[in-house]
Amino acid sequence: MNEEILNNITDIRKRINNACINSNRNSNEIKLLLATKTVPAERIKIALQAGYTLIAENKVQELKEKNESLKEILHTNHFIGHLQTNKIKDLLKYNVSCIQSLDRWDLAKKIHQRLEFENKTIEVLIQVNTSFEESKFGVGPDNAIELVKQVAKLETLKIKGLMTIGLFSAETEKVRKCFRLLKDVQQKIVALNLPNVEMQELSMGMSGDMEIAIEEGATIIRVGTAIFGKRIYPDSYYWNETIK
Ligand SMILES: *Cc1c(COP(=O)(O)O)cnc(C)c1O
Repeated sequence: MNEEILNNITDIRKRINNACINSNRNSNEIKLLLATKTVPAERIKIALQAGYTLIAENKVQELKEKNESLKEILHTNHFIGHLQTNKIKDLLKYNVSCIQSLDRWDLAKKIHQRLEFENKTIEVLIQVNTSFEESKFGVGPDNAIELVKQVAKLETLKIKGLMTIGLFSAETEKVRKCFRLLKDVQQKIVALNLPNVEMQELSMGMSGDMEIAIEEGATIIRVGTAIFGKRIYPDSYYWNETIK
């Protein structure tokens, strides 16, 4: 069991290295984030103990449940799920350093209000829907720049880049298009040179499409299945607002 997780991580590192070789990048430009939804704390610990300490949950409830057993090992929490405004206060209890799934103004405003009250700041990535699928969250590419401009005015939110979930498809060129689009939006934002906006992070690529994402400029890849195995819940459980 333990070995399986560590062997899987070794395989992922090889995949990262190969993708970097193919795209003339340095593998230390790529951060490996472990997507830990549905994974029990005991299994997450195996990766943390091996030094893979950047992890992310999709639901505040899971963050809360696992926090007690994980907090003894130093690690960094990101949040990558759809965030409901009534969960903000709870989320901020668990030392999340970056919310990668900021996708709308009312959410930004409410996180800001809570952070001001707590006298804290947080890093955020703007989640962009590059696949145009209704089941995916994220601001539309055409509205992303406007959202960034607005969020930039909230001084508790530190914008560090963009996040997307690519199209689930075996047609690699269609998947690649999503990642190119995210890069394109990033470049447009960089050109605007907005105060309080940094654009160094592109969080894109998962178990099935990380090579394409790396070739297109990913700096954070989010990997779950390829490390911890198949999940029992369908992903719609995490990605579709109508299913709780
Ligand atoms: C689950 C999840 C991942 C990881 O997906 P895998 O295909 O299991 O690697 C990445 N990003 C988000 C937002 C997720 O919810």
